[in-house]
Amino acid sequence: MQTFTDAFPWFIPSVFFIFGAIVGSFLNVCILRLPRGMSIVSPPSHCFSCGAKIAWYDNIPILSWFILRGRARCCGAKFSFRYSAIELITACVFLCMALCLPLPKALFGAVFASIMIVCTFIDADTLSLPDVVTVGGCIAGGLISFAFPQVQDAYMDGYPYFISMIKSLIVSVVGVAVGSGLLYWIRLCAEVLFKREAMGEGDVVLIGCIGAFCGWQGALFAIFGGSVIGCVLVVPYMLFKAALEKCGLSKSGAKEGKEEAKNTNEGALSADESEDDGMIPFGPWLCMGGLIYYMFLSDFVREYLTSFASKLFE
Ligand SMILES: [Zn+2]
Repeated sequence: MQTFTDAFPWFIPSVFFIFGAIVGSFLNVCILRLPRGMSIVSPPSHCFSCGAKIAWYDNIPILSWFILRGRARCCGAKFSFRYSAIELITACVFLCMALCLPLPKALFGAVFASIMIVCTFIDADTLSLPDVVTVGGCIAGGLISFAFPQVQDAYMDGYPYFISMIKSLIVSVVGVAVGSGLLYWIRLCAEVLFKREAMGEGDVVLIGCIGAFCGWQGALFAIFGGSVIGCVLVVPYMLFKAALEKCGLSKSGAKEGKEEAKNTNEGALSADESEDDGMIPFGPWLCMGGLIYYMFLSDFVREYLTSFASKLFE
């Protein structure tokens, strides 16, 4: 295996990229159907406009939108670039996993990334997160950690394998408890302070899911790192929007955007469901924080937080 990867260093990363594009295509289905309680396996992909079944050659991940120039072959209805974008994002994140991490962690990371991408887009669309994904993610993180201690860096040489499995499961469960516990507490405080619901219950479970995959250090990083990323990106956006509104430019633009969103969402979300009242979903930032931690910062942040915590409890 080692000599093979030495001879073809691009092989595993390209497999991850292609696999990511295919998985991304499935994630599109999850993002559309899970919030509506629909099955993700049947019916097979169909045109949202005329209902015709989509042939496999019109359903090629990333490329289809370009090949068909954004119009369905059956009836010529426009379809959103978003599908291809989500496939491309998934492929790039998978590629990044393969380039930055050893193989077992990269595979575990691919599962983690898939859950994060689904949560990001469902939360952005509907301002809520289905339990199937978040609770399911917590369980998946725990089970995979238990079966493969390497992914939590919990493998201990010279001990029976079972000891490593228990240690890894504990890391995962502590991650869920610390993450969800802390965010639950923050949520309570925010409710008292602002006298309104500041974040959803879904976010509390979502951070538990990040903890299950990343440990408590990752959950902490996602909460604070995610908030920072959120502020850095959201504040300029809000200022920009406020400035547009002041010039009277945004009303029609916002309406157009909403029309398009309605068309591309298979028309099943009612108008007031997609109405957001200026609420900003917190989930996408948590997901982004979790992924950044997992891919780039886990060694550094974990070492720092662990030494800090051990000083605290000395
Ligand atoms: Zn059609």
